[in-house]
Amino acid sequence: MKKNRLSFSALSIEDKKQNSKDMGVEIRESNKSERAGPRPQGNPERKKLTKSSTYQYSKFGKGQQHGRSRPFNNKNEYRNGNNSKIPPPEAGVIRIIPLGGVEEIGKNMTAIEIGDDIIVVDAGMHFSNEETPGIDYVIPNTTYLEERKDKIRALLVTHGHLDHTGGVPLVLSRIGNPPVYSRNLTVLMLKKRQAEFPHLPAMKVEIVEKDETIMCGKIKVRFFGVTHTIPDSMGIIIETPHGWIINPGDYKLDQVDGIATESEEKEYAIFDKAKVLLLMTDSTNVENEGFSLPEIKVYQGLENIIKRINGRIIIAAFASHINRLIKVIQIAEMLGKKIVLNGRSMKSNMEVAFEAGLFTPKKETIIPMEEIDNYPPNKIIILTTGGQGEEFSGLNRAANKTDKKFSIKQGDTIILSASIVPGNERQVQKMKDGLSRQGVKIITYRTPGEDFVHATGHGNKEDIKWLHRKIHPKFFIPIHGHHYHLELHKELAMELGMPEENIVVPDNGSIIEISPDGKKISVRKEKAPASPMMVDGFAIGGVQDVVIRDRVMLAQDGMFVIIALVDQKTGKLKKSPDLISRGFVYLKENQELLRQVRIIIKKTVEDSTAKMNPIDFDYIKNNLGESISKFLYQKTAKRPLVIPVVLSV
Ligand SMILES: [Zn+2]
Ligand SMILES: [Zn+2]
Repeated sequence: MKKNRLSFSALSIEDKKQNSKDMGVEIRESNKSERAGPRPQGNPERKKLTKSSTYQYSKFGKGQQHGRSRPFNNKNEYRNGNNSKIPPPEAGVIRIIPLGGVEEIGKNMTAIEIGDDIIVVDAGMHFSNEETPGIDYVIPNTTYLEERKDKIRALLVTHGHLDHTGGVPLVLSRIGNPPVYSRNLTVLMLKKRQAEFPHLPAMKVEIVEKDETIMCGKIKVRFFGVTHTIPDSMGIIIETPHGWIINPGDYKLDQVDGIATESEEKEYAIFDKAKVLLLMTDSTNVENEGFSLPEIKVYQGLENIIKRINGRIIIAAFASHINRLIKVIQIAEMLGKKIVLNGRSMKSNMEVAFEAGLFTPKKETIIPMEEIDNYPPNKIIILTTGGQGEEFSGLNRAANKTDKKFSIKQGDTIILSASIVPGNERQVQKMKDGLSRQGVKIITYRTPGEDFVHATGHGNKEDIKWLHRKIHPKFFIPIHGHHYHLELHKELAMELGMPEENIVVPDNGSIIEISPDGKKISVRKEKAPASPMMVDGFAIGGVQDVVIRDRVMLAQDGMFVIIALVDQKTGKLKKSPDLISRGFVYLKENQELLRQVRIIIKKTVEDSTAKMNPIDFDYIKNNLGESISKFLYQKTAKRPLVIPVVLSV
């Protein structure tokens, strides 16, 4: 997940020293800290080096320091909104705040606040995209909860997928470490993830089973089982004086021709006579017509293909599709084949699944990669990560021939047992090209004439309708999806007969309230802070405008570093300044430009320091940043990030 990068940035190194917190997780300050201004006194280490800032020539005139007038993302700042002015819910009011997962697919989290009690449901993450270059992943904004820590009674986790669990360790540490409740497999997975953050306080976690009832403060909470691609998925029932609040988590129906299985009918039977106040549920697949393909068809499809193929079989699937992976191991055992697990998350998820007692493979079924050549090709099935062409995943490394242990052989059959997540199309295409150059056959869920090799884990339109009818809520809040999906889901609910005023389509941070008499649902005018918190290495913070914007700019026009050594007494340069260019111009071929830059630096420094006593190094740096960024723009029509570093002797 973490890329190896060798970077040069005085800025971030300094900031890390400045802000490190004893927990080991540091909060990045906002861009204010990087503006010029009076420098803090009394830190002997820092006396000789002025704090570094970056400059970039702007279209609107002079070279500009970041953070002043060119917001990178003016949507909302980390501590945005008027959070401090949000009053507690009035007596009898039920407050619901989706803090993540409603303007996106991923990083799901919802808070429910009644009286003195807050319950949080899920704390997910999603990986970075082109809007957040270099960021490892993103988690929901916890500001609203941090400011009401004492009221938080529980974090309930619906199932073990990262879009519901990935933020748990970091979120917990920020919201006062409330107890976590989930079912067995999810708890094991949560513990495994928590172990990756040894510097955080231990998680207080309790296994609940689907028929249990727990008290979260004064609120009674119950659970029910749902079908998804990972075992132990559960829905949540929160009891209120006006009826239940239901969040089924991710679900689909295990139906045949639209008829749910007996066990599903049994699970959902609790709703037959229930009074349901509010349903909040998944909108991911609301665009897909019909029912979702039941997983059993995929099992049959995979079995048919595995039986038919006579060489090695490589199956790339989501490591989180634990049900399907177990099924493949069972098919292998039935046909006397060996299984090789490839990829870190594949191995670790299967370990957890075995530990949870979901399935125990025969001792000789799973073999290490090193022993693969001891068996004939038709005895081998490799289960690998990388169905999305992820850069460092098992299958992609094999496609690029960069994996020492795992290589593709001519005659292999590769089954991509996953759909392509939107946004990953290009990397999957590249990987498929790399694989097909090596003489293999590739079967995807789109290969015509093939058996089914993948089914979604989320309910399609008909599954969703079934759920609405079964649960028959008074109010409805669509969640899990981009805004467009939520609107479609609203339309669907209205088609099923729900009045428009009973539906709220939320944004992240919307504060939704049900009136004390349980008769009205509305959205407050205030919003809870909701901009994503970015996790970058060990750092976690809000929208670090400066960091992200710098990365975008570095990608566009590169950077230009000036290191000037200035004599404290005379205000003159001690020697010719050092210049470093990365991704901007090739220095060797631009000697004339550099010569002129050096002249401007000398002149700027000496003009700035004329009659100045004592010398203000921030002032010099500021002038340098502005004059050089302007000059470089005039000469090259490029706007590299300019980083002036002024050292004094
Ligand atoms: Zn899921
Ligand atoms: Zn999900």
